[in-house]
Amino acid sequence: MPALLDADLDRAAGALASARYVIALVGAGISVESGIPPFRGAGGLWTKRGEPPMDGYQRFIADPAAGWREMLARRGSDDEFSRALSEAAPNEAHFALARLEAIGVLRHTISQNIDNLHFVAGSEAVTEIHGNRTKVRCIDCGGRWRFDEIDLGEIPPVCQHCGGVLKSDTVMFGEPIPQAALAECQVQAELADCMLIAGTSATVTPAAWFPQMVLERGGTLIEVNPEPTPLSGLAAASLRGPAGEVLPQLVERVLAMRQEA
Ligand code: NAD
Ligand code: ZN
Repeated sequence: MPALLDADLDRAAGALASARYVIALVGAGISVESGIPPFRGAGGLWTKRGEPPMDGYQRFIADPAAGWREMLARRGSDDEFSRALSEAAPNEAHFALARLEAIGVLRHTISQNIDNLHFVAGSEAVTEIHGNRTKVRCIDCGGRWRFDEIDLGEIPPVCQHCGGVLKSDTVMFGEPIPQAALAECQVQAELADCMLIAGTSATVTPAAWFPQMVLERGGTLIEVNPEPTPLSGLAAASLRGPAGEVLPQLVERVLAMRQEA
Protein backbone atom coordinates (compact mmCIF):
# COMPACT_ATOMS: atom_id res chain seq x y z
CA MET A 1 0.00 0.00 0.00
CA PRO A 2 1.61 3.35 -1.02
CA ALA A 3 2.32 5.86 1.77
CA LEU A 4 -0.16 8.43 0.44
CA LEU A 5 -2.97 5.92 0.58
CA ASP A 6 -1.94 5.02 4.11
CA ALA A 7 -2.44 8.63 5.28
CA ASP A 8 -5.73 8.80 3.36
CA LEU A 9 -6.87 5.56 4.99
CA ASP A 10 -6.35 7.08 8.43
CA ARG A 11 -8.28 10.19 7.48
CA ALA A 12 -11.14 8.13 6.02
CA ALA A 13 -11.26 5.77 9.02
CA GLY A 14 -11.24 8.77 11.39
CA ALA A 15 -14.19 10.31 9.57
CA LEU A 16 -16.16 7.06 9.72
CA ALA A 17 -15.34 6.38 13.36
CA SER A 18 -16.32 9.86 14.52
CA ALA A 19 -19.45 10.35 12.40
CA ARG A 20 -22.89 10.27 13.99
CA TYR A 21 -24.67 8.51 11.08
CA VAL A 22 -22.74 6.87 8.22
CA ILE A 23 -24.39 5.65 5.04
CA ALA A 24 -22.83 4.09 1.95
CA LEU A 25 -23.54 4.69 -1.72
CA VAL A 26 -22.24 1.88 -3.87
CA GLY A 27 -22.28 0.91 -7.53
CA ALA A 28 -21.17 -1.62 -10.10
CA GLY A 29 -17.48 -1.19 -9.18
CA ILE A 30 -17.80 -3.09 -5.92
CA SER A 31 -18.95 -6.20 -7.76
CA VAL A 32 -16.14 -6.10 -10.34
CA GLU A 33 -14.00 -8.32 -8.10
CA SER A 34 -16.91 -10.79 -8.06
CA GLY A 35 -16.47 -11.10 -11.82
CA ILE A 36 -19.40 -8.85 -12.81
CA PRO A 37 -18.29 -6.24 -15.35
CA PRO A 38 -19.45 -2.63 -14.91
CA PHE A 39 -21.20 -0.79 -17.75
CA ARG A 40 -18.98 2.31 -17.84
CA GLY A 41 -15.23 2.73 -17.46
CA ALA A 42 -12.35 0.37 -18.26
CA GLY A 43 -13.63 -3.13 -19.10
CA GLY A 44 -17.23 -1.84 -19.04
CA LEU A 45 -19.81 -3.56 -21.24
CA TRP A 46 -20.97 -0.27 -22.77
CA THR A 47 -17.36 0.79 -23.33
CA LYS A 48 -16.90 -2.36 -25.40
CA ARG A 49 -20.32 -2.60 -27.10
CA GLY A 50 -21.93 0.84 -26.95
CA GLU A 51 -25.03 1.81 -24.96
CA PRO A 52 -28.10 -0.42 -25.30
CA PRO A 53 -31.54 0.92 -26.37
CA MET A 54 -32.95 3.17 -23.64
CA ASP A 55 -36.63 2.27 -24.12
CA GLY A 56 -36.70 -1.18 -22.42
CA TYR A 57 -39.51 -0.26 -20.01
CA GLN A 58 -41.73 1.24 -22.70
CA ARG A 59 -41.34 -1.93 -24.75
CA PHE A 60 -42.16 -4.08 -21.69
CA ILE A 61 -45.34 -2.10 -20.93
CA ALA A 62 -46.44 -2.32 -24.58
CA ASP A 63 -46.13 -6.14 -24.50
CA PRO A 64 -45.35 -7.67 -21.06
CA ALA A 65 -45.58 -11.27 -22.35
CA ALA A 66 -42.92 -10.60 -24.99
CA GLY A 67 -40.83 -8.79 -22.36
CA TRP A 68 -40.97 -11.84 -20.05
CA ARG A 69 -40.08 -14.28 -22.82
CA GLU A 70 -37.11 -12.10 -23.81
CA MET A 71 -35.95 -11.82 -20.19
CA LEU A 72 -36.26 -15.56 -19.46
CA ALA A 73 -34.35 -16.38 -22.65
CA ARG A 74 -31.58 -13.92 -21.68
CA ARG A 75 -31.30 -15.38 -18.15
CA GLY A 76 -30.86 -18.87 -19.55
CA SER A 77 -28.41 -17.75 -22.24
CA ASP A 78 -24.64 -17.66 -22.34
CA ASP A 79 -24.61 -13.85 -22.51
CA GLU A 80 -21.51 -12.50 -20.66
CA PHE A 81 -23.43 -10.31 -18.21
CA SER A 82 -26.15 -12.89 -17.38
CA ARG A 83 -23.60 -15.63 -16.79
CA ALA A 84 -21.42 -13.38 -14.61
CA LEU A 85 -24.45 -12.43 -12.51
CA SER A 86 -25.66 -15.97 -11.98
CA GLU A 87 -22.19 -17.27 -11.07
CA ALA A 88 -21.12 -14.39 -8.82
CA ALA A 89 -20.42 -14.62 -5.10
CA PRO A 90 -19.74 -11.69 -2.74
CA ASN A 91 -16.15 -10.41 -2.57
CA GLU A 92 -14.20 -8.80 0.27
CA ALA A 93 -15.83 -5.42 -0.45
CA HIS A 94 -19.35 -6.77 0.21
CA PHE A 95 -18.16 -8.55 3.37
CA ALA A 96 -16.42 -5.39 4.60
CA LEU A 97 -19.64 -3.38 4.23
CA ALA A 98 -21.63 -6.09 6.03
CA ARG A 99 -19.06 -6.01 8.86
CA LEU A 100 -19.17 -2.21 9.07
CA GLU A 101 -22.95 -2.51 9.46
CA ALA A 102 -22.67 -5.31 12.03
CA ILE A 103 -20.35 -3.24 14.28
CA GLY A 104 -22.87 -0.38 14.20
CA VAL A 105 -20.83 2.12 12.19
CA LEU A 106 -22.62 1.82 8.84
CA ARG A 107 -26.34 2.49 9.25
CA HIS A 108 -27.60 2.05 5.69
CA THR A 109 -26.37 1.18 2.20
CA ILE A 110 -27.85 2.66 -0.96
CA SER A 111 -26.88 0.29 -3.76
CA GLN A 112 -27.24 0.79 -7.48
CA ASN A 113 -26.44 -2.89 -7.99
CA ILE A 114 -29.01 -5.49 -8.88
CA ASP A 115 -26.88 -8.54 -8.09
CA ASN A 116 -28.17 -9.32 -4.55
CA LEU A 117 -24.60 -9.73 -3.28
CA HIS A 118 -25.01 -7.35 -0.30
CA PHE A 119 -27.64 -9.62 1.21
CA VAL A 120 -25.64 -12.78 0.47
CA ALA A 121 -22.71 -11.14 2.30
CA GLY A 122 -24.90 -10.40 5.34
CA SER A 123 -25.86 -6.73 4.99
CA GLU A 124 -29.42 -6.01 6.12
CA ALA A 125 -30.06 -2.27 5.87
CA VAL A 126 -29.87 -1.92 2.10
CA THR A 127 -31.98 -0.01 -0.41
CA GLU A 128 -31.53 -1.15 -4.00
CA ILE A 129 -32.52 1.79 -6.18
CA HIS A 130 -32.20 -0.22 -9.38
CA GLY A 131 -33.94 -3.28 -7.94
CA ASN A 132 -32.76 -6.84 -7.39
CA ARG A 133 -32.49 -9.46 -10.10
CA THR A 134 -33.59 -12.24 -7.75
CA LYS A 135 -36.96 -10.55 -7.19
CA VAL A 136 -40.08 -9.55 -9.12
CA ARG A 137 -42.22 -6.48 -8.55
CA CYS A 138 -45.86 -5.65 -9.30
CA ILE A 139 -46.07 -2.66 -11.62
CA ASP A 140 -49.33 -1.56 -9.95
CA CYS A 141 -48.98 -2.04 -6.16
CA GLY A 142 -45.16 -2.20 -5.96
CA GLY A 143 -45.22 -5.52 -3.98
CA ARG A 144 -41.97 -7.52 -4.27
CA TRP A 145 -41.47 -11.29 -4.17
CA ARG A 146 -38.60 -13.67 -4.71
CA PHE A 147 -38.39 -14.84 -8.30
CA ASP A 148 -38.62 -18.47 -7.23
CA GLU A 149 -41.86 -17.81 -5.29
CA ILE A 150 -43.97 -16.95 -8.32
CA ASP A 151 -45.83 -19.16 -10.74
CA LEU A 152 -44.44 -18.86 -14.24
CA GLY A 153 -47.16 -21.15 -15.61
CA GLU A 154 -48.77 -18.13 -17.21
CA ILE A 155 -46.78 -15.40 -18.95
CA PRO A 156 -46.87 -12.61 -17.93
CA PRO A 157 -47.33 -13.64 -14.28
CA VAL A 158 -49.74 -11.47 -12.28
CA CYS A 159 -49.79 -10.12 -8.73
CA GLN A 160 -51.72 -12.31 -6.25
CA HIS A 161 -52.81 -9.19 -4.35
CA CYS A 162 -53.99 -6.76 -7.00
CA GLY A 163 -53.89 -8.61 -10.32
CA GLY A 164 -51.28 -6.21 -11.73
CA VAL A 165 -48.59 -7.41 -14.12
CA LEU A 166 -45.36 -8.58 -12.47
CA LYS A 167 -41.98 -7.66 -13.92
CA SER A 168 -38.42 -8.34 -12.93
CA ASP A 169 -37.57 -6.05 -9.99
CA THR A 170 -34.53 -4.82 -11.93
CA VAL A 171 -35.24 -1.24 -13.02
CA MET A 172 -35.23 -1.10 -16.81
CA PHE A 173 -34.04 1.72 -19.00
CA GLY A 174 -36.86 4.27 -19.16
CA GLU A 175 -38.48 2.96 -15.96
CA PRO A 176 -38.99 5.31 -13.01
CA ILE A 177 -37.15 4.40 -9.79
CA PRO A 178 -39.72 2.80 -7.44
CA GLN A 179 -41.14 5.47 -5.10
CA ALA A 180 -40.59 3.50 -1.88
CA ALA A 181 -36.87 3.04 -2.60
CA LEU A 182 -36.41 6.68 -3.55
CA ALA A 183 -38.20 7.90 -0.42
CA GLU A 184 -36.01 5.67 1.80
CA CYS A 185 -32.83 7.01 0.18
CA GLN A 186 -33.95 10.57 0.77
CA VAL A 187 -34.62 9.86 4.45
CA GLN A 188 -31.20 8.20 4.79
CA ALA A 189 -29.30 10.98 2.98
CA GLU A 190 -30.93 13.56 5.26
CA LEU A 191 -29.84 11.64 8.35
CA ALA A 192 -26.26 11.12 7.20
CA ASP A 193 -23.27 13.23 8.27
CA CYS A 194 -20.84 10.94 6.43
CA MET A 195 -21.19 9.00 3.19
CA LEU A 196 -18.88 6.22 2.04
CA ILE A 197 -19.01 6.11 -1.76
CA ALA A 198 -17.54 2.96 -3.28
CA GLY A 199 -17.44 1.64 -6.82
CA THR A 200 -19.54 4.33 -8.41
CA SER A 201 -18.93 7.47 -10.39
CA ALA A 202 -22.31 8.66 -8.99
CA THR A 203 -22.96 10.62 -12.17
CA VAL A 204 -26.42 9.24 -12.89
CA THR A 205 -29.48 10.54 -11.05
CA PRO A 206 -30.96 9.81 -8.61
CA ALA A 207 -27.70 8.40 -7.13
CA ALA A 208 -25.94 11.67 -7.98
CA TRP A 209 -28.32 13.63 -5.71
CA PHE A 210 -27.43 11.85 -2.46
CA PRO A 211 -23.77 12.91 -2.08
CA GLN A 212 -24.89 16.49 -2.81
CA MET A 213 -27.52 16.26 -0.07
CA VAL A 214 -24.89 15.11 2.43
CA LEU A 215 -22.46 17.87 1.39
CA GLU A 216 -25.12 20.59 1.55
CA ARG A 217 -25.80 19.66 5.18
CA GLY A 218 -22.09 19.94 6.05
CA GLY A 219 -21.41 16.18 5.92
CA THR A 220 -18.29 14.36 4.75
CA LEU A 221 -17.72 12.16 1.70
CA ILE A 222 -15.22 9.28 1.63
CA GLU A 223 -14.56 7.77 -1.78
CA VAL A 224 -13.17 4.34 -2.78
CA ASN A 225 -12.52 3.95 -6.51
CA PRO A 226 -9.47 3.02 -8.62
CA GLU A 227 -10.28 5.97 -10.92
CA PRO A 228 -10.91 9.63 -10.16
CA THR A 229 -14.59 10.65 -10.42
CA PRO A 230 -16.40 14.01 -10.37
CA LEU A 231 -16.78 13.51 -6.59
CA SER A 232 -13.07 12.99 -5.90
CA GLY A 233 -12.36 16.70 -5.42
CA LEU A 234 -15.28 17.03 -2.99
CA ALA A 235 -14.33 14.05 -0.82
CA ALA A 236 -12.47 14.42 2.49
CA ALA A 237 -10.51 11.30 1.44
CA SER A 238 -10.41 9.64 -1.95
CA LEU A 239 -8.90 6.17 -1.69
CA ARG A 240 -7.54 5.00 -5.03
CA GLY A 241 -7.79 1.25 -5.28
CA PRO A 242 -10.11 -1.70 -5.80
CA ALA A 243 -12.92 -1.84 -3.25
CA GLY A 244 -12.13 -5.47 -2.37
CA GLU A 245 -8.67 -4.41 -1.20
CA VAL A 246 -9.37 -0.97 0.25
CA LEU A 247 -12.64 -1.53 2.15
CA PRO A 248 -11.38 -4.38 4.40
CA GLN A 249 -8.37 -2.24 5.40
CA LEU A 250 -10.63 0.69 6.08
CA VAL A 251 -12.84 -1.43 8.35
CA GLU A 252 -9.78 -2.77 10.21
CA ARG A 253 -8.67 0.79 10.87
CA VAL A 254 -12.09 1.85 12.09
CA LEU A 255 -12.06 -1.10 14.50
CA ALA A 256 -8.53 -0.21 15.71
CA MET A 257 -9.55 3.43 16.28
CA ARG A 258 -12.59 2.39 18.27
CA GLN A 259 -10.44 0.16 20.47
CA GLU A 260 -7.99 2.99 21.11
CA ALA A 261 -10.80 5.42 22.01
P1 NAD B 1 -20.81 3.46 -12.45
O1 NAD B 1 -20.97 4.67 -13.25
O2 NAD B 1 -21.09 3.63 -11.03
O3 NAD B 1 -19.32 2.96 -12.78
C1 NAD B 1 -18.61 1.95 -12.12
C2 NAD B 1 -17.51 2.58 -11.26
O4 NAD B 1 -16.79 1.53 -10.61
C3 NAD B 1 -16.45 3.39 -12.04
O5 NAD B 1 -16.32 4.65 -11.41
C4 NAD B 1 -15.16 2.57 -11.90
O6 NAD B 1 -14.00 3.36 -11.85
C5 NAD B 1 -15.41 1.86 -10.59
N1 NAD B 1 -14.67 0.61 -10.37
C6 NAD B 1 -14.22 -0.30 -11.28
N2 NAD B 1 -13.59 -1.32 -10.67
C7 NAD B 1 -13.66 -1.08 -9.35
C8 NAD B 1 -13.22 -1.77 -8.18
N3 NAD B 1 -12.59 -2.94 -8.25
N4 NAD B 1 -13.45 -1.21 -6.97
C9 NAD B 1 -14.09 -0.03 -6.85
N5 NAD B 1 -14.54 0.68 -7.92
C10 NAD B 1 -14.34 0.15 -9.15
O7 NAD B 1 -21.72 2.23 -12.83
P2 NAD B 1 -21.97 1.58 -14.28
O8 NAD B 1 -20.98 0.51 -14.47
O9 NAD B 1 -22.06 2.67 -15.29
O10 NAD B 1 -23.40 0.91 -14.11
C11 NAD B 1 -24.59 1.66 -14.25
C12 NAD B 1 -25.72 0.93 -13.58
O11 NAD B 1 -25.90 -0.36 -14.17
C13 NAD B 1 -25.47 0.61 -12.13
O12 NAD B 1 -25.79 1.67 -11.34
C14 NAD B 1 -26.33 -0.63 -11.92
O13 NAD B 1 -27.67 -0.29 -11.75
C15 NAD B 1 -26.20 -1.36 -13.21
N6 NAD B 1 -25.14 -2.40 -13.11
C16 NAD B 1 -25.20 -3.27 -12.06
C17 NAD B 1 -24.21 -4.22 -11.90
C18 NAD B 1 -24.30 -5.15 -10.71
O14 NAD B 1 -25.38 -5.34 -10.16
N7 NAD B 1 -23.18 -5.72 -10.27
C19 NAD B 1 -23.18 -4.30 -12.82
C20 NAD B 1 -23.16 -3.41 -13.91
C21 NAD B 1 -24.16 -2.44 -14.02
ZN1 ZN C 1 -49.92 -5.84 -7.10
